[in-house]
Amino acid sequence: MKFKIAPIFFSLLLLLSCNNTEEKQQSKVTKKSKLVVGIVVDQMRYDYLTRYADRFGEDGFNRILNNGFSLENAHYNYIPTYTAVGHTTVYTGTTPSEHGIISNNWYDKVLKESIYCVDDANYKTVGNNSENGQKSPKRLYTTTITDELHLAQNMQGKTIGISIKDRSAILPAGHSANAAYWYDGGNFNNWITSTFYMDDLPKWVKDFNANNKADEYLNQPWETLYDISTYTSSRADDNIFEGKFKGEATPTLPKDLKSLRTKNGNFSLIKTVPAGNTFTVDFAKAAILGENLGKSEYTDFLALSFSTTDYVGHKYGVAAVETEDTYLRLDKDLEDFFQFLDKEVGKDNYTLFLTADHAAVHVPAYLQSLKIPAHYLSTKKFQEFVLNITKKYFNSVDLIENISNYQIFLNKEKIESLKLDVNTVAQKLADEVVNYDEIYKAVTARTLQTTNFTSGIMNSLQNGYNQKFSGDVLMIPNPATLISGRTGTSHGSGYSYDTHVPMIFYGNGINKGTSSKRYNVTDIAPTLANLLKIEAPNATNGIVIEEVLN
Ligand code: ZN
Ligand code: ZN
Repeated sequence: MKFKIAPIFFSLLLLLSCNNTEEKQQSKVTKKSKLVVGIVVDQMRYDYLTRYADRFGEDGFNRILNNGFSLENAHYNYIPTYTAVGHTTVYTGTTPSEHGIISNNWYDKVLKESIYCVDDANYKTVGNNSENGQKSPKRLYTTTITDELHLAQNMQGKTIGISIKDRSAILPAGHSANAAYWYDGGNFNNWITSTFYMDDLPKWVKDFNANNKADEYLNQPWETLYDISTYTSSRADDNIFEGKFKGEATPTLPKDLKSLRTKNGNFSLIKTVPAGNTFTVDFAKAAILGENLGKSEYTDFLALSFSTTDYVGHKYGVAAVETEDTYLRLDKDLEDFFQFLDKEVGKDNYTLFLTADHAAVHVPAYLQSLKIPAHYLSTKKFQEFVLNITKKYFNSVDLIENISNYQIFLNKEKIESLKLDVNTVAQKLADEVVNYDEIYKAVTARTLQTTNFTSGIMNSLQNGYNQKFSGDVLMIPNPATLISGRTGTSHGSGYSYDTHVPMIFYGNGINKGTSSKRYNVTDIAPTLANLLKIEAPNATNGIVIEEVLN
């Protein structure tokens, strides 16, 4: 009897469990997102989410933190952590070793001159007669998640990039973008684009530009959102670690933008004050309405980047009242933008992610005042030091073409004409240059081609090294070393203060939760590709973050 009952019982169980699985599978089918919104906050450190947590409202950052999935230990895994590189990495799911955007500006070995990542003289400005629209993504070698979405939908659905900075609009939008728009500035109050995308601005962009919102914003002072005595996460407002606008006596709030704008680049001033973020949201909303994003049977993609946070960070640094106020105001802008998305696209119809293109170090002079190791490197003194090495060992000061981004580019013609060996010269420089106070490590390109560094900062250097474009000797400075002046801050290193950024997914198809596991920013694109059931960008080396997706 036992023998007979058991199989019946077993198959009953099997039947029950089958039903269960079927039910589960049915509930797991997520509907297609009508719109994907990628948000990059330029220079946002992960710890701004916690530093200002009590000061944020419920419906901005906290809305996506509490109802979405936050990766609390997400990092960039390459050097250098600059804007163009970060934006490209988010959207290509790979590192400069593959995507080719090795910095914002770099020395071109073939042209023998410094180039800017998105410059392209083959195209013209659309929107005014300045030269600031002569841009394209031609230096980007791989596809983006936005390109792949287009390919998957047989070029249906719209992909649009928007940012005050050209590179932060162009690189995320990819090669096949319908449009990328950025803000010109100076005496030009226009959102512009390039003939790479179109020959004439759409009516909604012309209408937006004619509205002259920038003037409206610049006629109001920048005051703290709350009483200044409540800014206890920041240093006293008046201190020696923060930069000033031209014409300002102290680096303090409030700021009279109306009087400052003449000496500080006229319309460009808006890029560097919190209203720049509000202005960006205004334009993004106009784009959603003007292009009917999220309304068709296809998935659209809006790649949005907030640049103002970077300008503010560079001027005032991490622990500044101005920086705190900028994030409190961005929180309000996000609240407003999320509510707009709910209304126009529908609460369950969009998927969103928010991250940063890099973070930033505390102002080194401020760290020094606290006895924490921090440094400034003088490029002039460093160049002299390098020339002395070649003079001492090879009796020549002409062996080097360029030093930039902590890379040395050798003059190979000269080295060969002197019957010297390129590898010997490079190795000697790497061996000697670490004797410079602010240089911590140095390695030749040849070493990076022949050694596989699997973890740590040397792995980051290797991921940032591109054999086609990078220099012959690559250096890593001490932690907390900057080249720029003693006020404000910067970024670019492979240390955690520059690599640790927010990474939050929210909306259709996304679980609620948090994870403290280490992930790389290169994982965003493959995770989105899996959610959308499309191919990931063609050179991605990221992984699908399974715990994010429901
Ligand atoms: Zn940046
Ligand atoms: Zn920056």
